Amino acid sequence: MIYFDYNATAPVMREAREAWLTATEKTGGNPSSMHQAGARAAVLLANAREKLAAYLGCHPADLIWTSGATEANNMVMHHFAKKAQPASEVWVSAIEHPCVFDSAQYYFGKKAKLIPITSEGVVDTDWITTEMADARPGLVAVMAANNETGVIQPWREVHAICQAYEVPFFTDAVQFIGKMPCHGLGECDYVTGAAHKFGGPRGVGFLKIPHRSQMTPLLLGGKQEGGRRAGTENVAIIAAMMAALEVREKQIARNEHLLRKLWRENFEREFVRTLPGATVVGANQPRLWNTVAAIMPDGDRKHQWVIRLDKAGFAVSTGSACTTGKEEPSHVLSAMGIKPAQAMRSIRFSAGWETTEPDWQALVAALAKIHL
Ligand code: PLP
Repeated sequence: MIYFDYNATAPVMREAREAWLTATEKTGGNPSSMHQAGARAAVLLANAREKLAAYLGCHPADLIWTSGATEANNMVMHHFAKKAQPASEVWVSAIEHPCVFDSAQYYFGKKAKLIPITSEGVVDTDWITTEMADARPGLVAVMAANNETGVIQPWREVHAICQAYEVPFFTDAVQFIGKMPCHGLGECDYVTGAAHKFGGPRGVGFLKIPHRSQMTPLLLGGKQEGGRRAGTENVAIIAAMMAALEVREKQIARNEHLLRKLWRENFEREFVRTLPGATVVGANQPRLWNTVAAIMPDGDRKHQWVIRLDKAGFAVSTGSACTTGKEEPSHVLSAMGIKPAQAMRSIRFSAGWETTEPDWQALVAALAKIHL
């Protein structure tokens, strides 16, 4: 089976497994305990925090470990719901992951306003600038890169607009971190990430908050994480996440992602050539080197493609793992103005660091064969 569903989750890499085992064997204490075993666990956590802070470019004290990005994203919305002025709105891009989108709607209802998206899958910065002249939302949320299309969002630009109007800016960087250079993300007010998208274990992630700011906890009942997130930290799983990120950061520093971008581009050229009528979503936009959202030629619907490819030995997806199984067009493609009939023929190929050029070539050959 050749795996092309890394945006759903990536296999846990060897370095992460080893870091987990070492931390489990050698760091048995609770990081809040006063004895030496506790202190060893606390040191490991502090080192992990420092490393992540250095990668993102923020202060270690601004980082909170969480059970993943769903929790971290919910924490942001919960915090603003508790601290926001009753009249304030939150503006969220129309292509956010459901854990941002749904929690914004849950906490803010009609005061959660959608930021429109261009037909190329990019958040409309002109809209933000124009609207900001008249109204100040309590928070703006725009993800760093979209999980379905891979389109990289202008998070630096949106952050700059927000700074000019003193509006807090939140970016879900789950699909960006561990694939693209992440230094500078730490300057955004709120940033979230999850280990399992870059080769770490599932069930661990983080939230970065503004320096010396308050955070209304979502989980109560302990003073861990500076009282901002109760519950004993899972030291070994955090060590594993940081071991994975360290490997990815080194690969990115060596520009290994640029070669992989070429492989994806070669695949796309071959893909549209061999399957007349097929298109790539957001084709002309800067995209993650690993992601291709494709609209397949007239005929079969997305689920049929996924099943046929599965039988041919390729794991691909119909889009977000959180929406698979639903016989509905994706909200991301709909926000781009893609008609439901087309959106129902969309599938996502998402590669990983382990994917090779022959894997991409095998995928296009299999697609051509299935299509015949
Ligand atoms: N945000 C984005 C953009 C994602 O792709 C995902 C996972 O699919 C999440 C948030 C949720 O992350 P987690 O699985 O760690 O809860």
